[in-house]
Amino acid sequence: MVRITHTSFANLLRWCVLLRCPVCGNASIFKVPFKVNDQCPSCKAVFQREQGFFVGAILINVVTTELVILLAYMASLPVINAHYQFVLAMLFVIAVSFPVAFYHHSWSIWLTFDNLVEGLPKS
Ligand SMILES: [Zn+2]
Repeated sequence: MVRITHTSFANLLRWCVLLRCPVCGNASIFKVPFKVNDQCPSCKAVFQREQGFFVGAILINVVTTELVILLAYMASLPVINAHYQFVLAMLFVIAVSFPVAFYHHSWSIWLTFDNLVEGLPKS
């Protein structure tokens, strides 16, 4: 069941895109690049809930990467016969670089989703 909060969906979406805390929107969810804060410095919402909590962010990252590769493959279908090696190289580059580039937003999407579903606990 999705929790109803006082925060508008537009705010949640904006905070998600800007990598802000999904509870208050006042602070970044990242301490430094590729390092998630343990909790929000502003409202104390816990971002690192338990062992294995990160699996949801990984799942979002993997599924999104596969969708992007699939879309790139389908977009390259008209030229794949003439440029087969180039298309393979392009798909490989996407498969390696996209998950790294999308890492922060996969965490942001996961924390926003978890906050909507059951709410992030406060420390
Ligand atoms: Zn917060």
